Amino acid sequence: MTPRAGAYQCIGCGACCAAFRVSFYWAECAALDAVLINQLTPTMACMAGTNQASPHCAALQGTVGLDAQCSVYALRPSPCRQVQPGDERCLKARAKYGLP
Ligand code: SF4
Ligand code: SF4
Repeated sequence: MTPRAGAYQCIGCGACCAAFRVSFYWAECAALDAVLINQLTPTMACMAGTNQASPHCAALQGTVGLDAQCSVYALRPSPCRQVQPGDERCLKARAKYGLP
């Protein structure tokens, strides 16, 4: 059963921004600073810092679970918009940081 989404607060959390590779069609990131992007293939890119053993998006500011926030929130790519509070990836990310 999926836990109730309302039980999870994204504000200050950021766990899912430091748990997975965030990859997307390269054209999605045209408005982002190049230092925040890693080109993966001619057509795919990812957020810098997320293509490593311990992912941590370069656009994430603050401390996960405390005061984390996305510095490019309005421009964030589609994978960031797809994670929903309480879904499988959210719970996996929160568990990684010992968050309830
Ligand atoms: S979706 Fe989940 S892991 Fe991601 S910021 Fe929100 S509460 Fe945290
Ligand atoms: S771009 Fe923003 S929302 Fe997406 S992973 Fe990075 S910090 Fe999180």
